[in-house]
Amino acid sequence: MASLTEIAVSEGAVPEVDIAIAGGGMAGLTLAWALLRARPTLRLAVIEQQGAVERSVSFDSRSIALAAASVQQLQAWQLWPELAAKACPIRHIHVSDRGHFGKCYLTAEQFGLTEFGAVLEVEHLGQLLQQRLQNVPQEQLLMLQPDHIVALQQQQDQVQLQLASGKQLSASLLVVCEGGLSPTRQLAGFALSTEHYQQTAVIANLALAEPHQERAYERFTADGPIALLPLPGKRYSLVWTTSPEQAARLMQLGDSEFTAAAQQAFGYRAGVFVKSGARASYPLTLRRSASPVLHRIALAGNSLHSLHPIAGQGFNLALRDIAALVQLVENHTQNQPTDKNSAAEIGGYAMLRQYQLAREADMQQVMTLTDGLVRLFSNRSRLVALGRNLGLLGMLLCDDLKQPLAHQAMGYNAMQRLQAQLKEFSNHAAL
Ligand SMILES: Cc1cc2nc3c(=O)[nH]c(=O)nc-3n(C[C@H](O)[C@H](O)[C@H](O)COP(=O)(O)OP(=O)(O)OC[C@H]3O[C@@H](n4cnc5c(N)ncnc54)[C@H](O)[C@@H]3O)c2cc1C
Repeated sequence: MASLTEIAVSEGAVPEVDIAIAGGGMAGLTLAWALLRARPTLRLAVIEQQGAVERSVSFDSRSIALAAASVQQLQAWQLWPELAAKACPIRHIHVSDRGHFGKCYLTAEQFGLTEFGAVLEVEHLGQLLQQRLQNVPQEQLLMLQPDHIVALQQQQDQVQLQLASGKQLSASLLVVCEGGLSPTRQLAGFALSTEHYQQTAVIANLALAEPHQERAYERFTADGPIALLPLPGKRYSLVWTTSPEQAARLMQLGDSEFTAAAQQAFGYRAGVFVKSGARASYPLTLRRSASPVLHRIALAGNSLHSLHPIAGQGFNLALRDIAALVQLVENHTQNQPTDKNSAAEIGGYAMLRQYQLAREADMQQVMTLTDGLVRLFSNRSRLVALGRNLGLLGMLLCDDLKQPLAHQAMGYNAMQRLQAQLKEFSNHAAL
């Protein structure tokens, strides 16, 4: 716990807000919106380091693949109807291993579905959330930006925050959504494990000569996977994972040279690339907090878990963190107006313990799968390559073997497990 002498708010004072959210990126703003929809009487604050007019580092030129279960969740929070027209469904998935025989095709139809999920340019999500939250009255939502937490103190019923602007704030619960490098996570004393993959993801949009038929591709290479995610129109979002040295070279290329390099690396199975858009690069790291909670504080999104984008799971996992927090806040304010007593329930031991239990297994499973895939497909051993290609070939030939991959892509199992666990918690009010 960080020590704090400057904040002179007495113990037991009524919290100014029920929940303070540090970080107003993809996870933080989605959480704010979903909480206000579930409990309109809540008082929230979002503390975001960037100014309202700056282009957000979270809502940049990235596109994300959303599993079908995540799309359903965004639908339940009334966000999807406006995003659907800007997203592209994924109806086919093609996986291959460069230089080897293994490959696998999945089509949604085989599983009785119309799509596995959808691809969305994150700036659309950012615009929608900002627009919706702008209309929320200040008494319900305090947007504090540009600002950040410089000190915090955990007390029995609240956490007190000192902001860089000189403002002070107390909250029943602080949810940290500051991304992978969160300073507040460190300030609060969360233990963290970090592993650098020595890989960098270069992203860009590619224009195509022909329509992509809503097909996503993942091609494994010895330097890292290359993914093509279909976007509306004849466009792909490219996520090219490679060595840091090659990524630096790719970032230096002119647009036509980069387009040609992408074509050469990927081949022509996904069609002819005619143009590439703005590029960005991300060094890839596996980061995990030892615990999702400390007294009166919870972590969510990349502050809790930063993953390799190989399986497109990061934000899908974050949406389940958010779904868990929203449901638990609902459970812990059931039938009570948000007054001093009910606010004290939010962020209390029972709620945070349930959040920890609800998130740990899912997080561990997704991190193990993602990390395992990175290691399996980056391994240059011929024996390992033979094994993984037999696995891909098996999936090509046998529908039963495709099921686990398809279920992972759709995310239904994890969401169902989470809902069942939260329901059980609400049946047994406290642990
Ligand atoms: C190349 C790439 C491809 C990806 N593809 C997919 C995909 O296909 N599917 C998928 O599900 N996920 C994908 N992801 C993961 C996804 O982008 C992350 O899960 C998501 O960005 C996490 O959101 P976040 O809000 O937790 O963190 P961020 O997006 O990092 O946002 C953090 C926010 O906190 C703010 N902040 C930081 N520090 C402070 C501070 N001290 N005080 C106040 N505010 C602060 C930042 O300004 C920012 O607004 C991908 C990631 C990468 C890099």
